[in-house]
Amino acid sequence: MNAPNTASAAATSDPLGDLAPALFRPMGVDGVYARSALYVNVTERLESYVTRLREPEAEVMRFPPVMSRKQLEKSGYLKSFPNLLGCVCALHGSEPSIRAAADRHEAGGDWTESLSASDLVLSPAACYPVYPIAAARGPLPAGGLQFDIEADVFRHEPSKSLDRLQSFRMREFVRIGSPQEIVEYRERWLARAPAIAADLSLPHAIDVASDPFFGRVGQMMAVSQRQQALKFEMLIPYHAGATPTACMSFNYHRDHFGQVWSMHDQHGEPAHTSCVAFGIDRLVVAMFANLGLDLDRWPAVTRRALAL
Ligand code: ATP
Ligand code: ZN
Ligand code: MG
Repeated sequence: MNAPNTASAAATSDPLGDLAPALFRPMGVDGVYARSALYVNVTERLESYVTRLREPEAEVMRFPPVMSRKQLEKSGYLKSFPNLLGCVCALHGSEPSIRAAADRHEAGGDWTESLSASDLVLSPAACYPVYPIAAARGPLPAGGLQFDIEADVFRHEPSKSLDRLQSFRMREFVRIGSPQEIVEYRERWLARAPAIAADLSLPHAIDVASDPFFGRVGQMMAVSQRQQALKFEMLIPYHAGATPTACMSFNYHRDHFGQVWSMHDQHGEPAHTSCVAFGIDRLVVAMFANLGLDLDRWPAVTRRALAL
């Protein structure tokens, strides 16, 4: 297949390019890669390591890469990140109209003109589907809820850089509860972050951050988010002198999802929520970038953490 913008093309422009041939196989589109056996081996071990970090109360759920378009619209995603969203489109309609669109392609024309939106979007983050599921259970139980969730997510941010994929894996520990429970939860995970980085032998810094809200109004939303310290990131440089990459985020949504989904705690107050997100692909690439491609030479502490 002729694929000009590929992982190997990235090799010439990206200091991480040396890694690409060992970790990824090109699929013809920037930021979308097949994973090699070496990469999958470390990914699976990292996932097991994350599982061991999980708190016992957490309920495990795994999501497909798509979710309800209506649910995401209701979550307010289009207000904040319309530029990142991918919508699933399909050929709807009668057999003749679908056939006409497909034939147009065969004749060298554009079949995509006939597409229209389906009721699905590509999930842009793992946690959006969990809130309506939790809300459907009625008022929160005493002590709230905790989930261990994961999805392969999509964001329309094509890049040749190996730390910015369009399709990537996001694992999250989500907490739903009272404001005090949520603040305490996020503090607890922020306090655990240095030990996680140490287990993985990754240089890191924790810093307050903001989401990449869209447009000029978005810049104001980002300032407000920073002022309220609602988002923190674990930042890891991929090589000496590199601008560090956000490999984990620790998010406090206040009562946003509680309001959207009419989720209440036992006292009738809107539920507050927090998620701790592991950027699985970014963490794996960070380990190869910092520790090299030879797993036998990785530090003992990390070999132990990953059961290598
Ligand atoms: P960035 O500012 O780098 O775009 P973000 O603020 O959009 O990151 P979050 O929305 O917090 O990221 O997503 C949770 C985690 O998912 C991030 O901490 C990161 O590890 C990972 N992640 C986000 N975007 C990408 C991407 N394009 N490719 C790979 N991993 C990503
Ligand atoms: Zn989340
Ligand atoms: Mg982003």
